[in-house]
Amino acid sequence: MAPTADTPRAPETHSFQAEVQQLLHIVIHSLYTDREIFLRELISNAADALERVRHELLLNPELPEKDTEQRIAITTRPDAKQLVITDTGIGMTREELTESLGTIARSGTREFLTRAAEAAKSGDLNLIGQFGVGFYSAFMVAKKVTVETRSFHADSQGWRWESTGEGEYTIAQAEELPRGTRITLELKDDAEEFARDWRVREIVRKFSNFVPFPIEIDGTRVNTVQAIWARNRNEITAQEYAEFFRFLTNSQEEPRYRLHFTADAPLAIQALLFVPKDNLERLGFGRMEPGVDLYCRRVLIQKHPEKFLPEWMRFVRGVVDSDDLPLNISRETMQDSALVRKLARVITGRFLKFLAEEASRDATAFGEFFSHFGRFLKEGIIEDPANRQELAKLLRFETSGTEKGKTISLADYAARMKPGQKDIYFVNGPSREAIEAGPYVEGLLSRGIEVIYNYDPIDDFVFEDLGEFEEKKLVSADRGDVELPEGESTGELEPLDTEKANALCGWIKKHLGERVASVRASKRLVKTPAAIVTESAMTATMQRLLMAANKEEALPGQMLTLEINPRHPLVHRLSELSGADEPLARELTDQLMDNAMLAAGLLLDPRGMVERLNALLTRAAGGASGAGKDRA
Ligand code: ADP
Ligand code: MG
Repeated sequence: MAPTADTPRAPETHSFQAEVQQLLHIVIHSLYTDREIFLRELISNAADALERVRHELLLNPELPEKDTEQRIAITTRPDAKQLVITDTGIGMTREELTESLGTIARSGTREFLTRAAEAAKSGDLNLIGQFGVGFYSAFMVAKKVTVETRSFHADSQGWRWESTGEGEYTIAQAEELPRGTRITLELKDDAEEFARDWRVREIVRKFSNFVPFPIEIDGTRVNTVQAIWARNRNEITAQEYAEFFRFLTNSQEEPRYRLHFTADAPLAIQALLFVPKDNLERLGFGRMEPGVDLYCRRVLIQKHPEKFLPEWMRFVRGVVDSDDLPLNISRETMQDSALVRKLARVITGRFLKFLAEEASRDATAFGEFFSHFGRFLKEGIIEDPANRQELAKLLRFETSGTEKGKTISLADYAARMKPGQKDIYFVNGPSREAIEAGPYVEGLLSRGIEVIYNYDPIDDFVFEDLGEFEEKKLVSADRGDVELPEGESTGELEPLDTEKANALCGWIKKHLGERVASVRASKRLVKTPAAIVTESAMTATMQRLLMAANKEEALPGQMLTLEINPRHPLVHRLSELSGADEPLARELTDQLMDNAMLAAGLLLDPRGMVERLNALLTRAAGGASGAGKDRA
């Protein structure tokens, strides 16, 4: 017979989701150092649960047990080797219990597991808490964990969850539980210390000083609840700020930047924002989630709200508190609130201003920041038009005029443009060396014009979206329509005369056919005999990415122009050969074309080229064989 609501069922046994089993295996068998962080995790869960019930009470002040004190109580039982953590928070229903403590709800679990395995090997536990596997860290110190919990809903029933962390857990009904959650750890023999009052006190002081609810250990209050962001800046030590940052991020790191500000108009705001040292996305940890909590008068409205600040700001951690928000604003309507949008605009503007100030205060430190977090600013230029101009000022680049590794801003570039130079030039390539060996910058450099070097493929899209900076066009040096400033390119020989040059261009175009849209004499080339330039709005880098994305065979020739260098000896020779020895001229032209495509990064299949090159080499060395097919 099915049990009814008032006949308690026998405990049911469930298996952990496979990922949880793997995770627990790592937690139980590999993590021996820094075990004390389990307490930080359990306390932070208790604090989250308290925040949530506080929020529910704001929306519905008539909830049962509305007067229960909101607090965290820790009890040590050294004789029984037990540690008990109790909160009067939101509790869990049966479904929430199996969902939260039986699975890993978040996506990217697999990735995390690989990382966790690596982290466990290197003993670096720092990251565990940041990836939402906090609760399971209890099994580092406990041979058995019991969770007794009752949800805040009026008709909720209590539940007892129990596990030794080895594959299974049980769930049974539990009578007469107050609202909230009680977690009992039966400590491992080598973890007895965590049942000792002084040890627990020490850990709480270290990690949980900023928990916004009272924490009691064996009946004695140990923390003072403080909203550090609401305090006077002059009274806060760097040490306190750093502690708060560590509290926010569940890490042991120091922040890189800190911005603490208050404003009265247009909105009353107290905000404390941090930029971390490392960019976890860059380290391969997948997309970060936003990290700025939204408060109203010291009460948490939402932890890490999505779509509050612009996406590109997701690397920022911190707290934004505004007296102007209605206390009972719901999480659902938050995003639609004009007030919240206005708040976000003010915060974003202030943060951008702060970065600009840091950049001029200490350019080296800012360069370091940019090398880690520049990607986010670039993303902002593409996705956040409202802040595009301010973001553009923060970009930093190597150029032909900087030392390798040193960077300048677009404003720096503009300030040192040559008289008569109208545009800002850039070119994309895999490295400084590759760019300087390529054909695109020589005409500019020979005229003494500075060129920005982009090494990140995203940079060309960023520049395209920007279009211009301080009314100067941003121009890719590999474009066909680059307008070079006054002055001729130098070169080995006098240029072919116009008639010969035109004739040669015509002959080459006829031979290359559809492979290019046109052939013309170049003004930009100095050392290189020929180069491919692009006729579409896209730079060669963008086309390369497009090709890769579409797995295209090759780019349609109508997007490409071949420029030949009328001062180059090979081009002079070609001009003669096109009349005298057409087969050889054709072979040389094919090779010239392939070389140019290679330099543009657009040559897909070099096999034909290698064969041809070998044939040419053989003849150059005086060999007889290896005549090209079209010489037959
Ligand atoms: P996270 O805190 O990052 O979500 P955890 O592994 O620490 O990950 O906790 C998993 C989930 O279990 C929490 O999101 C929450 O839903 C639930 N939970 C854990 N501890 C408590 C608690 N004391 N009260 C209510 N729910 C809790
Ligand atoms: Mg947690």
